Formats: sequence, C-alpha cells, structure tokens
Amino acid sequence: MYRYDAQQNWSHISGQQQSPINITTHHRQLIATRPTFTTYQLTKIQNLGFKLSLSGHGQATLQQRPGQWQELHFHYPSEHHFDDQAAALEAHFVHQFKNGQKAVVGVLFQLGAPNPVLQQILTQVPPQAQSQTTAITVTDWLTNTAYYHYMGSLTTPPIIEGIEWYLAQQLQTVSPQQLTQFQQFFAKNNRDIQPLNDRAIFKLD
Ligand SMILES: [Zn+2]
Repeated sequence: MYRYDAQQNWSHISGQQQSPINITTHHRQLIATRPTFTTYQLTKIQNLGFKLSLSGHGQATLQQRPGQWQELHFHYPSEHHFDDQAAALEAHFVHQFKNGQKAVVGVLFQLGAPNPVLQQILTQVPPQAQSQTTAITVTDWLTNTAYYHYMGSLTTPPIIEGIEWYLAQQLQTVSPQQLTQFQQFFAKNNRDIQPLNDRAIFKLD
C-alpha cells in the first residue's frame, strides 16, 4: 500500500501534467457542449478495507465521444480545489473510451444537508473484504451542471498521465454525520495539489 503521509516516495514516471490541481473557476475558455450521461446505476459495493469501490451501469458522452463508466470511489478531503478551496469529499467516476484512454468525472461535496444518495450507499456498505449487490441511482450527481476539463493523471500510483478530467461545477452536499460515517471505512486519502504548469483549463457549458 502507498502512504498518503509519504507521497514524495510514490514511484512514478515524472511528468508535467499531474493531478489533482487547483481549478481557478473564472475566465475559462468555453467549450459549448456539456457532458451528458445516461442513467447511472450502482449494482455493486465493495469494501476493500482501504477504500470503497462501486460499480454499475452508465455511459457518458464526453466531447462527442462515448465513455463507458467502470468504477466509482471516493476521496476525503477532496483532491481538487476550486479557487483554492478544498471540499469535504470527492467522488471519482472512472470511465474508459473505446481506444482504452481513461477519463475521470469528479464531483465535489461540501458540508451541508444530508445527501440522500450517499446515505443509501453508506447504509449498504458490506463488512471489510466483502461486496454487496445494490440498485442505487446516482445520475443526479452528474447532470444539470457545467464541467471544468483539463488533462491530468491518475491521483494514485502509478500516477499515469494522459487522463481526461471533468469536474462538475455544481457541488453536492454531505452532512458532518455522513462524513464521520465515511471515515470509518477508509483513512484520509487525498493526494497533494500538483502544479498546473503549462496546461489549459476549459469550461464545458
Ligand atoms: Zn480517485
């Protein structure tokens, strides 16, 4: 296992396009097409001990290309920042295009009202090293929002680059109690903010 308190020791091929980053939200170059999503339904929750891994059915259209949703997991606190502000939690929907390239759709959660979808997940988490079948619709987290897009990397080793990132502008909420529940399942797991370097951030709206 890699350690979040010793990130400088993570083995990786060093590059200039690492994730996560701080997203400055103003004056972004506009791409006039929002991502679209079919109904996203979770069918399986796995408790891996160090993280929750969820999977199910769903397909995104990202800049006119279909991306198959493969997996959902969470980080707390959030990995990406908006205007130098971290959020309480971040969901990563990992997708794959036909050519094998990956795209991650991220959703940030700020402290606030209890999240009903998150509650369904939390009440169905199986014991450690077990999985649970389920039927939870998570589409509402993805739709009716603009997205920020940039080219980055995986945020866990081997930190491979060439990953398309799409971050929902609309933040969801998580209650303090829900966040405490989450903390029972895995330890703090956010990678440090990485330099933007010579990268463009686009807004899809
Ligand atoms: Zn992730």
